[in-house]
Amino acid sequence: MIKLHDKYFKPFISAQEIDDAIGKMANDIAADMGDEIPVFVGILNGSFMVVSDFVKKYPKPCEVTFIKLASYEGVKSTEDIQRLIGLTQDLTDRTVVILEDIIDSGNTLSEVHRIFKNENVKSLKIATLFYKPEAYKKDYKLHYVGIKIPNKFIVGFGLDYDGLGRDIPEVYQIMTTQHMTNLVLFGPPGAGKGTQAEFLKKKYNLIHISTGDVFRYNIKNETALGTLAKSYMDKGELVPDEVTIKMLNAEVDKNADANGFIFDGFPRTDAQAKALDELMESKDSSINAMIALEVDDEVLVGRLLERGKTSGRADDADESIIRNRITEYYNKTAILKDYYSAQNKYYGVDGVGSIEEITVRLGAVIDAL
Ligand code: AMP
Repeated sequence: MIKLHDKYFKPFISAQEIDDAIGKMANDIAADMGDEIPVFVGILNGSFMVVSDFVKKYPKPCEVTFIKLASYEGVKSTEDIQRLIGLTQDLTDRTVVILEDIIDSGNTLSEVHRIFKNENVKSLKIATLFYKPEAYKKDYKLHYVGIKIPNKFIVGFGLDYDGLGRDIPEVYQIMTTQHMTNLVLFGPPGAGKGTQAEFLKKKYNLIHISTGDVFRYNIKNETALGTLAKSYMDKGELVPDEVTIKMLNAEVDKNADANGFIFDGFPRTDAQAKALDELMESKDSSINAMIALEVDDEVLVGRLLERGKTSGRADDADESIIRNRITEYYNKTAILKDYYSAQNKYYGVDGVGSIEEITVRLGAVIDAL
């Protein structure tokens, strides 16, 4: 991640990918030119890196010149394009290839077409390293496109954010959400995750998502998801990943503006952990920590049987189902300790003691993050 002025950017397209795309464009254009010696026209400032790399790779004779237009202000493409340096040579009957670093709204391209309308060139081709199809509003044909990208602001490889970033040899993408605190609250059934999450969500202003609670809500309301989940939950087994991941994604999307999340009961499998990383990545965020409440099995069984007297949960009422849930945890879920340890994100916390004592222990870990 890098910071330019007030904004954060994350790596998006590597120098190697850029190099490959430029090489391909150079070869494609050379093949189409036949014996013609084209004039490549770079649009300053942004195209200086593309043009430099492109002409070095272009395998035949060519000419190079530049025009300078100004179209970007901050992170928005402006309607108002200024012509700062125009054409300085006669291009009558020449084949001209415009070399652009990026085409998004197409406003710059309109200005380019206006400039070339009276130049009597033989043909005018447009080549661009980056292209944002979702942003493009014009009809002009783009003859050569290096890499199509989504409609997000990028910097690097000639492209700037208010003057900074042009010198970076790869491309970075703007990050839309920043500084979320995302915690995975981990531990076997009965460890006290739900109880502690209630305190933590208030203290740190986070959204608490308990997959177990979402499933129980769906069962209560007799939704299709509830009916499906019930058959697994009643036996103390895990609901299939595909179902759970989809449901979790929807819960996160419902809270797009959150300061962060406490995930309770998720992830429970390797596939869920990977899906969660991808989801966080798509939100320009990540999991900050897995905090695990460590509690002995026999204490857990005792706590859950006690809870079963009042919770009304079928899976708390029967000791063999409780033991099955704990076994599921050790068979399928405990491996996640390794997953997060490998990322230096695992924090074990003693889960035996009073509720207040444990809240203090958890708070100490979160405050130190
Ligand atoms: P909990 O309330 O976290 O103890 O979850 C109760 C039950 O809901 C579990 O035993 C599973 O059947 C189901 N469940 C909750 N979270 C998940 C998950 N992440 N993956 C699969 N099943 C889950």
